[in-house]
Amino acid sequence: MKLFNTLTQSLETFTPRDNLVRIYVCGITPYDTTHLGHAFTYVSFDTLMRYLEFLGYTINYVQNVTDIDDDILRKARELGIAWDELGRRETERYLNDMDALNVHRPNVYAHATEETPTMIEIIQVLLEKGFAYESGGSVYYSVCQDPDFGTLARAIGLNDYKAMLTIANERGNYPDDPRKKDALDFVLWQAQAPGEPAWPSPWGPGRPGWHIECSAMAMRYLGPQLDIHGGGADLAFPHHTCEIAQSEHFTGKAPFSRFWMHTGMVHQDGEKMSKSLGNLTLVSDLLKTYSADAIRVTLLNHHYRYPWECFSEDLEVAMETVGLFQQVRTIVGEQTDGEDTVLHGRFKAAMENDLNTPEALLLLRQAAETVIANHDVNTGAEILRLTKVLGLRV
Ligand SMILES: [Zn+2]
Repeated sequence: MKLFNTLTQSLETFTPRDNLVRIYVCGITPYDTTHLGHAFTYVSFDTLMRYLEFLGYTINYVQNVTDIDDDILRKARELGIAWDELGRRETERYLNDMDALNVHRPNVYAHATEETPTMIEIIQVLLEKGFAYESGGSVYYSVCQDPDFGTLARAIGLNDYKAMLTIANERGNYPDDPRKKDALDFVLWQAQAPGEPAWPSPWGPGRPGWHIECSAMAMRYLGPQLDIHGGGADLAFPHHTCEIAQSEHFTGKAPFSRFWMHTGMVHQDGEKMSKSLGNLTLVSDLLKTYSADAIRVTLLNHHYRYPWECFSEDLEVAMETVGLFQQVRTIVGEQTDGEDTVLHGRFKAAMENDLNTPEALLLLRQAAETVIANHDVNTGAEILRLTKVLGLRV
């Protein structure tokens, strides 16, 4: 199977070390409700894992929930509720939305607030090795002490310090923090601010930085080297770049992950999205109007790697496609053992070309139209089996 590796910017053959695929996908920060962009990422990776299972691999899938964060504290203050109550509520909503979309739950769903001992262990080693420094109860990663820093950032076109600094600062890097030696340094452990929750550490009470959280949870449950690390395209820098730096200097092993995979952004902040879909950008709202299969088909009609914009017509087309599969279900009836080796082969070829789900769905849709015309039960049974690989419930 060929997959696009963000780190090398090329299609590479996916060959895990053994039958077990160790995969980590960055999870949500539970301060707001799940939108279509989240769904695109998690449905895309769910489909990848379903396909790898179909090929015979066993999956060990870890996902985190960033259940302490500036955004959670801010939103909780706005709503006048406790930060942990907000986190629990939005995590629950997210899991319900993902269950509805037939997304498999991870083998381990790790909470940042429960994993601080592992993070502290990594930070201590980074301090000993000279890649980090303590300042005023906080600990920072020292980017200038790390000549390897930024491989993933450079791969996506951030070629120099200034370019990295600009983007990092847009994404919460706190350039003016007086305790930092260099503006690009990022926080590993953040000293407690007045009124904020804190966990004990050798440097005093505080809370973990976002980047260290994912390194710690990935390595605790999957070991020092992963097969696939995924997330939205906006995480490649700074988040994943920082994860690589911390993890590889902690273990002394590279690469931290063999493949880095990123999903394209779904546009919904702009006016176009609100004009076309009104308030239907939340998964829970979409589910009131469309079936989970129709939403899943809408998402998989777009290749995981590219940005796209969702229009209500996309959902209508997806509903038609699901309708065709349902007609095939009626024609096939109880017979499930039929096969179509040509369709099977073409489906596999599409999926193994960097998970080309739009192509795979087109093949199934065309085959369904033929089956509806000629009542070919064998091809029908094959179609239904392959729709399951895409996570449809038809
Ligand atoms: Zn992460």
